[in-house]
Amino acid sequence: MSASFPSLPCLPCPHGSACCAYGVTVSEEEAAGLRSRHGEDKVYRTRWGEWRTRIRNRRCVFLVDNLCVVHDDPQYPAVCRGFPWTDAETGGPYEFDQAICPEFVTHPEYVQIGKPTRAAPRRP
Ligand code: SF4
Repeated sequence: MSASFPSLPCLPCPHGSACCAYGVTVSEEEAAGLRSRHGEDKVYRTRWGEWRTRIRNRRCVFLVDNLCVVHDDPQYPAVCRGFPWTDAETGGPYEFDQAICPEFVTHPEYVQIGKPTRAAPRRP
């Protein structure tokens, strides 16, 4: 993707890291690295077999004092790396609700950034 994205005030986040309220899916490799370096209980496997980061006190367990403690870890989750612009699985535009980041509420024009533009309808 070649779009350039506006910079967001993520570090430290003035919104209490609202995007970290949900936990994310992590790959097998990410889960193994995060568990070995940060604790077995920090990620868990759902009944459907996917690994996810655990939530405690309404935020991801890796968020400490409003900062992500795995941001520089080799297994920093691809989902977090891509949000809010890039979908970790497809490498294309992020397809879910970007407004979990309040910057997208105050700047609704951000939602279209990086998205494919529709071709103008052809006139007969
Ligand atoms: S993406 Fe938005 S909510 Fe998440 S840390 Fe950055 S500014 Fe905060």
